[in-house]
Amino acid sequence: MAERKVTKVLTGQPTSDGAGVRLTRVIGTPALDHVDPFLLLDEFKSDRPDDYLAGFPDHPHRGFETVTYMLAGAMRHKDHVGNQGELVAGSVQWMTAGRGIIHSEMPQQKDGLMWGFQLWVNLPARDKLSEPRYQDIPPERISEVARTDGTRIRVIAGELDGVNGAVTGIATDPLYLDVALPAGARFRHSIPEEKNAFVYVFEGEGAFGVSADETGRSLHAGQLGVLGEGDSLEARAADSPVRFLLLAARPLGEPVARYGPFVMNTRAEIHQAIQDLEDGTFLG
Ligand code: MN
Repeated sequence: MAERKVTKVLTGQPTSDGAGVRLTRVIGTPALDHVDPFLLLDEFKSDRPDDYLAGFPDHPHRGFETVTYMLAGAMRHKDHVGNQGELVAGSVQWMTAGRGIIHSEMPQQKDGLMWGFQLWVNLPARDKLSEPRYQDIPPERISEVARTDGTRIRVIAGELDGVNGAVTGIATDPLYLDVALPAGARFRHSIPEEKNAFVYVFEGEGAFGVSADETGRSLHAGQLGVLGEGDSLEARAADSPVRFLLLAARPLGEPVARYGPFVMNTRAEIHQAIQDLEDGTFLG
């Protein structure tokens, strides 16, 4: 077994998106453009209504998948063909935009804490114009593994301790875990060699890329660690608890042409998306 090491450490950048929602962008920045097939990772966390009330009014997506994981607060999702739903604390929406959706994502609260993540996952060329698909997973359908040392792991996608995530049928065969380790606890998980992987710490502090002869790299809340080659990850909480996301997926190795909410393989396909939007043929 070769332990994966942290090869790069990044801190997110404050930015705003939608109609003025303040968030922290961790992937999709000049410092870290993407970790194939992950194109973007945003953390939104605020108890100031002015930071989130404006929400994300109608906007399109084509050619990739958006994954929203809520920790606190609620968001209402509504698209142009009538799909809608409420994302509450602990729920996940894995939306495969495929050839195109136009939707809004609006806060369903006037005050209080709004906290969560949005991840963008690329689609292979063959699936970029596929039928849109939603996987709306309520909190109670996300399996939580509780280990005897107090570790708790929510399995959103992929497998852990024989438990499968509720999200299925995704082209890049992703692993998406929310891992909470008590002080001093160790965590080990195999990640197939062919996958790209990263961790993002959102509470506390821990060491990643720990092995028999190495103490690993310490990461605290707000830091992302890109993981290098190997077939497993070992992590250890500091003297206090740590909570982090562990993501892994098969890289596509295809050209990425990206423009706002469109992610295709070529500039011509981007122009086509813009044209389809103007012509009113975007939704097919
Ligand atoms: Mn969106």
